[in-house]
Amino acid sequence: MSVTANLPLRCWAEIDLAALERNLRGIRAALPGQIRYVAVVKADAYGHGLPQIAARLMHAAADLFAVANLAEAAALREVGPDWPILILSPILPQEDRYVAELNVAVTVSSAEEVARFAAVARDSGRPLSVHLKVDTGMGRLGVWHEQAEHVYQLINDTTGLRLAGVFTHFSSPDDDPEFTALQRRRFLLALARCPGLYSAGLLIHADNSAGIETLEVGGPFNAVRVGLLQFGILPGPGTLLESVHAEPVFSFRTRVGLVKNLPRGTGISYGRTHILARDSRVAILAAGYGDGIPRAASNRAQVLLHGQRCPVLGRVTMDQTIVDVTDLPAVAAGDEAVLVGRQHDAEIGIAEFSRWGDTIPWETLCSVTKRVPRLYRTQLGL
Ligand SMILES: *Cc1c(COP(=O)(O)O)cnc(C)c1O
Repeated sequence: MSVTANLPLRCWAEIDLAALERNLRGIRAALPGQIRYVAVVKADAYGHGLPQIAARLMHAAADLFAVANLAEAAALREVGPDWPILILSPILPQEDRYVAELNVAVTVSSAEEVARFAAVARDSGRPLSVHLKVDTGMGRLGVWHEQAEHVYQLINDTTGLRLAGVFTHFSSPDDDPEFTALQRRRFLLALARCPGLYSAGLLIHADNSAGIETLEVGGPFNAVRVGLLQFGILPGPGTLLESVHAEPVFSFRTRVGLVKNLPRGTGISYGRTHILARDSRVAILAAGYGDGIPRAASNRAQVLLHGQRCPVLGRVTMDQTIVDVTDLPAVAAGDEAVLVGRQHDAEIGIAEFSRWGDTIPWETLCSVTKRVPRLYRTQLGL
């Protein structure tokens, strides 16, 4: 064993795979039985680690996986060679020839892509699965809903392409229910204009985690695309979302590197970003923005030490973050500090941590750096 393999951890993330599995089961239980579960595991499974997360979701019988690109699909193929995969982002023309090799379904938004993917299917001698994406108002990917019928026909008339699904994406399901309802109506109208669509056995999907809240029972939707919620994070308030009782999968921890006393009036961290109002005891944590604590959280964030909230003083730096422990005289070098997660009876949620950093949980999870090892808890009920 090398020295580095034995070194104690300075800053790490704990990933609770048993909670992940319970979350998937909870989400399934809250949805009608015919709804398929598309597990969204792009960006290294939201920073949790793709191989471990995908393996556990396969064990828990997710129906299909969605990733952003071919490299992520290739990584997923290493875990489950036969699992169906949908690529959500556009394929670059330079990537076309790899699509058939990986046996993935691709997202189609335009007639140009239909022609390109037809060539891929022809060259490989194998049919290629596609999901038609409809733009119902987000203005990003997808064919504009009023022209969806045209691309639908084109796909159906193209040898080598197999239409496997039709979908749309909501722009603001967490904070604009009216616009979400309009997008849903536009999508249903577009579907109704496509002859034979409902009898073709396609996956019809629109909802990400927040969308699930307004999923209509009895409609044509038969799949959901779940990202954030399976990691135990609610995208916003909601009766159905809360009924899942999703548990956080991720926690973010570090240790105290040094404790010292400073006199009143001292300017903390790079000059005068925080002036101590009293004689203080500060703890210097062994983590900073080099690990994924946003610099915007300077002077704002809180950290758990000995089960108590302690305020961050001064700037978050690359390798260090300073907290006030004047009221916790027992704090010593080596003690564990929690940035996101539970300690004794106290908890800092990822939504709160993200607000301190002027960001959102999705970005927080993607910002935990390579320096931070992920530790996996695997046991059920741990
Ligand atoms: C990322 C993504 C999702 C998952 O969104 P969450 O809000 O994390 O559930 C669903 N659909 C598409 C198209 C996405 O890009």
